[in-house]
Amino acid sequence: MVKVRFAPSPTGQLHVGALRTALFNWLFARHHGGSLVLRIEDTDVSRSSEEMTRAILEALKWVGLDWDEGPIYQSQRFEIYRQAAHQLVSLGRAYYCFCTPDEIERRRQEAKARGQHWKYDRHCLHLPEEQKSELLKKGAPAAIRFLMPEGVTEFNDLIHGQISVENKNLEDFVLLRSDGFPTYHLSVVVDDIEARITHVIRGDDHITNTPKQILLYRAFQKEIPQFAHLPLILGPDRKKLSKRHGHTAVLSFRDQGYLPLAFFNFVAQLSWSPGREERIYGREEMIAGFSLERISKGSPVFDLNKLQWLNSRLINEMPVAELIRELRSWLEKRGLWKDAFLTEKKDWLEKLVELVRPRSRTLVELTDMLAPFISNQVDYDPEAVRKHLLDPCLEELLPKLIADFDQLKTFTATELEQVVRGRAEKEGVKAAVFIHALRVLLLGRSVGPGIFEVLELMGKEKTLARLDNLAEARKVIEETGEVKNGRSTKNNL
Ligand code: GLU
Repeated sequence: MVKVRFAPSPTGQLHVGALRTALFNWLFARHHGGSLVLRIEDTDVSRSSEEMTRAILEALKWVGLDWDEGPIYQSQRFEIYRQAAHQLVSLGRAYYCFCTPDEIERRRQEAKARGQHWKYDRHCLHLPEEQKSELLKKGAPAAIRFLMPEGVTEFNDLIHGQISVENKNLEDFVLLRSDGFPTYHLSVVVDDIEARITHVIRGDDHITNTPKQILLYRAFQKEIPQFAHLPLILGPDRKKLSKRHGHTAVLSFRDQGYLPLAFFNFVAQLSWSPGREERIYGREEMIAGFSLERISKGSPVFDLNKLQWLNSRLINEMPVAELIRELRSWLEKRGLWKDAFLTEKKDWLEKLVELVRPRSRTLVELTDMLAPFISNQVDYDPEAVRKHLLDPCLEELLPKLIADFDQLKTFTATELEQVVRGRAEKEGVKAAVFIHALRVLLLGRSVGPGIFEVLELMGKEKTLARLDNLAEARKVIEETGEVKNGRSTKNNL
């Protein structure tokens, strides 16, 4: 049975690269009906934190990834790693090393001065037996090093193909440090053996670790899993993706209003896609189509525009009721949620969301668009006011329009359009003068959906109150033309 693992170190937030690793392990496990183990690699106790672990689990859950075993915490397994290291010593595959970091550093510098490449010089391998026992008896701090065998280590990476390394280029790496803490190589192999992992799928940055780990499997006389290393993700400047390129933490994308399925698609499509089309694929479709062999070898470039595109596509494709479920917490955070949205105002909200979603790339933008329809307050964009509300003719024309609107028994887009265009004609001004002014007065901004639908959904009462707000809106611009805080203080409808 296929068994894979995702093994994050909780020394920081879960970032895009690690999420892609988790995602491909998950897809691979689900595709093969296998299982996924979640292992928290927190052996570096000083750099790991429970808070980070919680954030990692939260990020995985947000994207919709689950696991079948774990989380297993390496920090609870130190004794197991110690025993394993001593087992290798008794098998003659590892040895005690008493060298202090200072001594090693000195010899490294000497080698450097001689122009030699340094690797551990096996000083302790050659200590006489009596001296070793003496030191151990005295309790001298001792690390355990792997005894690198001669020869060549080869493996067939499922993404990169055949890889081979001459063992003479590898050193007798440390398995257990003198303070009793295991190194990454030891703990990872011990755990993967115990969990009977069949496939190790992880980032390219681990490719150089794999030969050492394969040698450890051999030393333990255990079956070696298959390896697949995912290509490094690059930023738009084609350098390794990092914080320099902006947000890379998974949860920050949640906080920017991306939908989990859009983010799932984006991260998967960095290196693989179930089809040729660039679109949102369902999770089941992804699972059905997944294959490691089809992951591209080349380094993908992280392109935020693509994420925005996928997100707005999903915002527009998903059933509106589902979108409203996603939006609820956003509206709540802004104090805009009303329980009536589940009952008598359900249809109204659905129509409104339908109206504004074509212009929204994220849930944040969508919430911003909805706000003026729900809230009693409008945030006037000073630029929009300057552009469309300073025309002196508005003082005279707007009251006329208000009177026209006031007479309407029903408030539908078609009627409203007739009224606005009719009034413009009568006054000899372009309808656009009204349309632009209305948009700014009602929404606070100069861009938005079709104004007549906006008016209809805003409703008569709110519309009339806002049209009365010209002076108030103009206040966001100081006499000098300096921009003031764009918030209207008046609590209008
Ligand atoms: N803990 C390692 C990391 O976060 C992963 C180890 C592995 O997958 O072998 O990079």
